[in-house]
Amino acid sequence: MDFARQHGAGREHGQSPMPLEPQSDWQRGPLVRYLRWVLIGMLVLMTVYPVGRYIWREYRWRWIIVHHTGSDNGNLDWIIREHQAKGWKDAAYHFVVNNGSRDTVAGQIEISQRWQDRENAGSTQRSYVNEFGIAIVMIGNLQNHPPPLLQREALLSLLVRLASKYDIPPERIRGHNELQNTKCPGKHLDMQQVRREVAAKLASMEK
Ligand SMILES: [Zn+2]
Repeated sequence: MDFARQHGAGREHGQSPMPLEPQSDWQRGPLVRYLRWVLIGMLVLMTVYPVGRYIWREYRWRWIIVHHTGSDNGNLDWIIREHQAKGWKDAAYHFVVNNGSRDTVAGQIEISQRWQDRENAGSTQRSYVNEFGIAIVMIGNLQNHPPPLLQREALLSLLVRLASKYDIPPERIRGHNELQNTKCPGKHLDMQQVRREVAAKLASMEK
């Protein structure tokens, strides 16, 4: 008898070795049983996702990096072509400050699709700066000569506007060469002086 029970023979006597779940629960299935929680979860996601996305788009900027193109002839379209030729999908900068070449006006600012989409700029070799940094490029070779006055003024006002809007302290405004070994943005763009001027403008705005 003991031997028979151990091998499941007990069922023949009407004894079920494992009780079944109640019939109704068994029929519903997990999705239906937890439908209420699935719906609540979807509602939470639908609320959290856009809020999270907005915070990521508008609150992640902690750096501003300034570059030059190294060439006196250019604009946003030219940069896009140059960078696409390197196999990148778009210009690696968010903002372009023009010098008056290629049908632009000195000081004219162009905004790339990368900024419209708030995508990372791959403008440095530091991933955290690329992730959290706004990349600005000055058209021109500022290793050879200083920028035209209007172009420099435009850079200053763009820096002030971005620093003020995203609450980025002036010391987080860096030339590319202050992050890695490169001549960019050129010796004729004194970044310490730029930071001083931005700080002075920001201070005067707070009054
Ligand atoms: Zn650079």
